[in-house]
Amino acid sequence: MKNLLCVTTLLWAGLFTTHAFAAPCLKVTLTGTQGGPPVFQGQAGSGTLVQFGDDANNCSDINLQFDTGRGTTQRLSEAKTPVGKLQAIFLTHMHSDHTEGLADMMQLRWHFGSGGPKVDLVCSDDAPSPAGHVLSCAKLAGHIGDAFIQSGEMAQRLAENGKRLPGGPAELINLKVFKPSGTPIEVWSSDSVVVSAIGSRHIPGHASYRVDTPAGSVVIGGDAGNDTPKPPRPSSTSAQVEKLATGADIIVHSTIHPVMGPDNVSGFPPPIYFRQSTATDLGSMAKRAGAKHLMLTHLIPPLGAKRQGPYPIPGGGLTESDYKNAVLDGGFEGNVVVGTDLTALRLPQ
Ligand SMILES: [Zn+2]
Repeated sequence: MKNLLCVTTLLWAGLFTTHAFAAPCLKVTLTGTQGGPPVFQGQAGSGTLVQFGDDANNCSDINLQFDTGRGTTQRLSEAKTPVGKLQAIFLTHMHSDHTEGLADMMQLRWHFGSGGPKVDLVCSDDAPSPAGHVLSCAKLAGHIGDAFIQSGEMAQRLAENGKRLPGGPAELINLKVFKPSGTPIEVWSSDSVVVSAIGSRHIPGHASYRVDTPAGSVVIGGDAGNDTPKPPRPSSTSAQVEKLATGADIIVHSTIHPVMGPDNVSGFPPPIYFRQSTATDLGSMAKRAGAKHLMLTHLIPPLGAKRQGPYPIPGGGLTESDYKNAVLDGGFEGNVVVGTDLTALRLPQ
């Protein structure tokens, strides 16, 4: 916090410190824009870095990572925010395309930051599925280093450097679980930055987040979709995300292009199509919510890809205009950002 202008006030009751920012700013960087488990031209898996601070330090006092797909460590390094600088990590849901980078990130902190501080991991409490399984962020966190413990690597490295934590990277996680519901609740805060969460539909335990700062606000929808799992329904988007996003400056949301729908010839499984939000419906939602910026991420299909996994894209690869036009069809008149890795938006602009 050395770049902050700190105003310290002594009061009768004790010592209070508040941080006054000369030029507060919010920065939102897409650390990975790949939609789902496929890999395409080196795109990183889903993730968004949200930073708040002062213009003088490029908005980097508070560094929050939302989802940790494949390659998050590398993208954070390119965004000049190494894993060790994150104060908190938030997960939307227990799908590997949003979580598989976490082991890499925590292993890196264990190597070079075993002395701390711990990183807050904020995510849903255990969420049972009607199918009988349980989605458990707590177990993901508790077992994050298990493969390397089982391989013997951790014992070998501890033998040569006893300053590392003996329990492995799980010991560096400060787990903060919450019960997502249809009403936003505060799940994390630091100074004037507050993160709230709402339960949303995709898989059990899915949550969407909102970050409010003095420089603006951003909603991370994740893979949220509508409570009604397939048509007929008024929209593919989430009523909960819309509630959370009302009055927000920026919405970051996973996106599927209508070309993947069952009316076309991709063969893409309809249930997977229906549980995502379409670009057109996101445009309508962003308009209703009054957002100024809509950042499309987790693009299904990726820009230019001829296939999504095994499914061919009707008409060949999609362009940025194809995604923008789909959003405009929904009536949105604000700024549309078709995400690629490391695309960033800063407020004030
Ligand atoms: Zn996903």
